Amino acid sequence: MLRPASIRFAPAIALVTLFGLGEVGAQTQTSIDPAGSAAVIDDIVTGSRVLADFGVLDGFGHVSARDPNNPNHFLMSRSLAPALVTAGDIMEFDLDGNAVDARGRALFLERFIHAEIYKARPDVMAVVHTHSPNVIPFTISQVPLRAVFHNAAFLAAGAPVWDIRKDFGETDMLVRNPAIGRSLAETLGDKSVVLMRGHGDVAVGPAVRMAVFRAYYTDVNARLQSQAVGLGGLLNFLTPGEGAKADAVNFAVLDRIWNLWKMRVTTTLAK
Ligand SMILES: [Zn+2]
Repeated sequence: MLRPASIRFAPAIALVTLFGLGEVGAQTQTSIDPAGSAAVIDDIVTGSRVLADFGVLDGFGHVSARDPNNPNHFLMSRSLAPALVTAGDIMEFDLDGNAVDARGRALFLERFIHAEIYKARPDVMAVVHTHSPNVIPFTISQVPLRAVFHNAAFLAAGAPVWDIRKDFGETDMLVRNPAIGRSLAETLGDKSVVLMRGHGDVAVGPAVRMAVFRAYYTDVNARLQSQAVGLGGLLNFLTPGEGAKADAVNFAVLDRIWNLWKMRVTTTLAK
């Protein structure tokens, strides 16, 4: 059951106002704003290329955003390597993962990750799915991924591991239908990140920039935690309280790092 738009968007609007992203939060459900869509599409393109540049995404993985003009739709590239995504490749999908206007374009098999999370989490405005190499060991280990440093503060709330085999037996490991996507979204719960056993992870956020930030720092945190484990001895992670405080600061300065990342990939952005 969907709540009224004013309630559904309240958290996102509060956050984007706080973080100076008013052009995203200023949308309403009933007014069509092409500029708002263009800004979100630009962030999807930039985020895809940034994560590819960092090696968090390779030929696989995807970045999406809830349509700022229609909360029951989301925007995502046609099936394409993230480093090659341009604004012209972005398509519109409904929350069952159906393309609104496919025109023969190939679709990502795992679009149901995005569809089912948008359906389950009205506060989520962006979703990133990666096969983050540093994270994979934590998806098959009994050692939980925990917040090592302040940039990955969002992990202090926990990062559950979802195992596709638990409900679906032996599969090809892909989230290729709504039922599998729903199971993944249930394990994500109210968290910012869910790990996928033998596969990768999903990071969500109230804007594309934040979901990209979380996808990147989930990968960095995993690498640092592995290094810390290698040192031996007891580890001292951020507490949930520290995580909540540090996360608020990270969001406040997000544009600074986003502009730096965007500059890194601007020369490769097709006009
Ligand atoms: Zn995948």
